[in-house]
Order: sequence, then C-alpha cells, then structure tokens
Amino acid sequence: MRRFQCPKCENEVHFDNRQCVVCTTQFGYLPSADKMLALSGGNDETYPCENRNVIGCNWLCEGVTNLNQCLSCRHTTKLPDLSVSENLRQFTLLERAKRQLFYSIMKFRLPLYRSTESAEGYLHFELLGDEIDSEGEIERVMTGHKQGRITINIAEADDATREKIRKAHGEPYRTLIGHFRHEIAHFYWDKLVAGKQSIDEFRAIFGDERADYSDALKVYYKKSAPHGWSKSFVSAYATAHPWEDFAETWAHYFHMISGLETAYAYGISPQPVKDSAPYMVLISDPFDVIDLRILVDHWVTLTVAMNEMNRSIGNFDYYPFVLSDSIFRKLKFVHDLIGAHTKN
Ligand SMILES: [Zn+2]
Ligand SMILES: [Zn+2]
Ligand SMILES: [Zn+2]
Repeated sequence: MRRFQCPKCENEVHFDNRQCVVCTTQFGYLPSADKMLALSGGNDETYPCENRNVIGCNWLCEGVTNLNQCLSCRHTTKLPDLSVSENLRQFTLLERAKRQLFYSIMKFRLPLYRSTESAEGYLHFELLGDEIDSEGEIERVMTGHKQGRITINIAEADDATREKIRKAHGEPYRTLIGHFRHEIAHFYWDKLVAGKQSIDEFRAIFGDERADYSDALKVYYKKSAPHGWSKSFVSAYATAHPWEDFAETWAHYFHMISGLETAYAYGISPQPVKDSAPYMVLISDPFDVIDLRILVDHWVTLTVAMNEMNRSIGNFDYYPFVLSDSIFRKLKFVHDLIGAHTKN
C-alpha cells in the first residue's frame, strides 16, 4: 500500500481514514485518481459513497451517475441482515478488506467484466451469514466462487472463528484479504486461462485441473497435505487441486506485490550483509515490473529483515515461507498472466 496525505494539511493519513486527526478535515479516497480528496473540496464531481456512515467506507464516487455506491461497495450484490449488530461489524471488516482488494485490482489494471444487464459472469460478491431454516436446521454458507459470484461467509470476519480454522488447517495467512485474493483467482482463471492458449502451460506447471474437484477436496480433508509439500506449494491447501494451487499462488503473488509497494512507500530497503553483494535499489512500482526475478529477490531480502523485526519483539515470523524454484515457476505463471492482460 502507498502512503497518503491529508488534502488540507498534508499530515500522513492512511488508506482507511476518513478524517484527519490533526486538522479534522473530512476526506475520501478517489480510486481513479488514487488520492485522498476533501469532502468539501468545492468540486461537484465527486461525492461520498452511501456506505460512508453505515460501515465507514471512505471511498468516493464520481461523475454524473445514479450510482450511490463506490466502485468497491457496488460489487457487493448480497449482504447480511444489518439490523443484527454482529453482522454489521463483520460486514464492515469484510468491506474494508474488499477495498484493499479493489485497490490491487485497479493497480494491476485487471478487467472487471462489468455488465449492466446481469450479474452473471462479472465479478461480484455475496457476503452472507449462516441461517436457520424453518425446520431449525443451520444452513451453512460456503465460501467459494461460481461464475463470477464470490460468496464469503461473514463468520470469517470473526477473529476467534477464523483463528480456529486457521490453526486447524495450518494456514499462516488465513486473513480476510487473503480470502478475497484467493477467491478472485478462481474468477480470473475462468476468464484468462480456461480454454485459452495458456491452458497447456498451466497444466504443465500446476497439474491437470480436469481431475475430479470434489473428490480431490475430500481426499485433502481426509489425508491433509503430503509430506514435504512446502517445497512445491505456497500452502498446504494448494496441494488439494490444481485450481486451489493456482488460487493460493495468485493470492501469494498479490501479498508480495502489496508488500513491495509498502516497502517502497516507506523507503524500507534492507541491504545485503556482504559488502560485495549488489546494492538493493527500491522498486518504485512493483505493479509494473516485467522481470519477476527482480521482484522476488527484493521480496526475499525484505522478508528476511521483516522476520528478524518480528522475532526481535517475540512475534511470529512475518513471512514463514521459502520460495523454491517450483514455487517461482508458479508465481511466474501468475505474473506473466496478469502482465499479458494489463502491461501493454
Ligand atoms: Zn489534515
Ligand atoms: Zn463504498
Ligand atoms: Zn479456492
């Protein structure tokens, strides 16, 4: 994430802020301009998202449209019953993570395939909670993707629930933003890989996705990941099926680029311990770098330092992964795929 400034006093403000703590100016984030603008800035072109006072959405809408919601909020097509206060809290946290997701989508210039006629086939989100049916049975909401529709069980926004699942599945990066990044990968796989030229390369790297999906998941949940999985996969869950491997790699790639963008914004550039090793020059725009090797080299150096930072205060490692050659090939597939659609 990059850094932002208050449009009035230039004090540092953050991506989710709505008001400057120094001069009390109310502002909002305009995605097309990638900057914070004052609400009473004397322009009629922009106006706050209608969710601003509901869930603290700080994004702005623009232009003469009848859209009352910002780019991120209007991609949520179903939401839980907000008269339940716990639902409102969870919805707020999910939408916050989703704005971060849309920030990356915009930076990568990935298409949204938006159509005004129907929701079918374009990226949209249903953020729903489990319900009790008329027979008193719990109807569980499964987090997942189908033809552009991404369903997230809002209980994931509950820290205790998510932590329980995270531990049970051995997933160091089970977070809300991680879920969003993972689920959109399935959508982009459908759009950019299925039936396209890249399918052969995909199968050579990730395996054949025609293997029965539900059988594969059943096996995974019964037997867990094979021994030594971390040499070739970014997570245990990635071993379940080539689609899940792709989605986990895609999410990991988003984490890496986002982390590199933050490092640049704050001028964090750890140097090699050996004087003779090349000096690390910060990458100003990791979204636009063509050579993945440059990104990965920076990322590895940075994460070693970040791990030491965390250890120095007794925390878990920031980045408990090793990027093997086989994982590099997978990341490169994602990197080239996004680049082919956006960097020209
Ligand atoms: Zn200010
Ligand atoms: Zn909004
Ligand atoms: Zn998945």
